Amino acid sequence: MWIDTHCHLDAPEFSGSLPSIISAAKNKNVQAILLPAVKAADCQRVRSLAAEFGVELPGLVYTLGIHPLYTNQAHENDIAILEEQITQSLGDPRFVGIGEIGLDYFVEGLDPHKQEYFFNAQLDLAQQFQLPVILHVRRSQDAILKGLRRRNIPSGIAHAFNGSFQQAEQFIELGFKLGFGGAATYERALQIRRLLAELPIESIVTETDAPDIPPAWLREEGVAFNEPAFLPRIGRELASIRGLSDDEFALAVWRNAMQVLPRWSALCTGFANPKLAS
Ligand SMILES: [Zn+2]
Repeated sequence: MWIDTHCHLDAPEFSGSLPSIISAAKNKNVQAILLPAVKAADCQRVRSLAAEFGVELPGLVYTLGIHPLYTNQAHENDIAILEEQITQSLGDPRFVGIGEIGLDYFVEGLDPHKQEYFFNAQLDLAQQFQLPVILHVRRSQDAILKGLRRRNIPSGIAHAFNGSFQQAEQFIELGFKLGFGGAATYERALQIRRLLAELPIESIVTETDAPDIPPAWLREEGVAFNEPAFLPRIGRELASIRGLSDDEFALAVWRNAMQVLPRWSALCTGFANPKLAS
């Protein structure tokens, strides 16, 4: 069985078709999906989506946070709203951490000071509640590592990882896993494929980032956007880059994700048998 550690099921691309998106994922043996919130105003919606579709897909979980690309429109008060939403969610077994948070120094037009304010305030919340974090890291590896080192954060995932080996090792030292997905399916993505092939297997987790980061074959096949049902095909390509069988790879990445997200692990204990990839 497969795990998608990063999937924006609340994106407009999926509105109206979520029941079929979820059942397609389930039919492809994607048994666990993490849905990260991107805005304080979305917290309740993300929580209720997880509750509704968790009936069909018991391994569906969510995290709450303010994404760096949404910080321009965020208000200082959003941190208080987020804290309140986190407090309310602590009793919900589908709530597993803080995210998506981070810094994006690639996209133009974002105020770096605002981004840093919201990132640091949310790291403080992660420390306060002792929750893992889902990180968006784009041209910002060193600034994010610095923020993590200043605090006692109980691990998490650096999603869509695209840094150097040295930066990867620093995240791993801090107890983080690194997310890989569709970007590694492009033959020209040499650096990402090298990271995937050479980093310790214990540090790797799988993700789609659906509806974004389309795998290489999507456009050729005329598919408009990425979805969690494509995770096994992405996972098979990642496994072959890694030189592992599908089953070995699927089992390893499942365990890795559960190791850094203990609330997710607790939820899946009882129904999940990660030994079965297919
Ligand atoms: Zn994301």
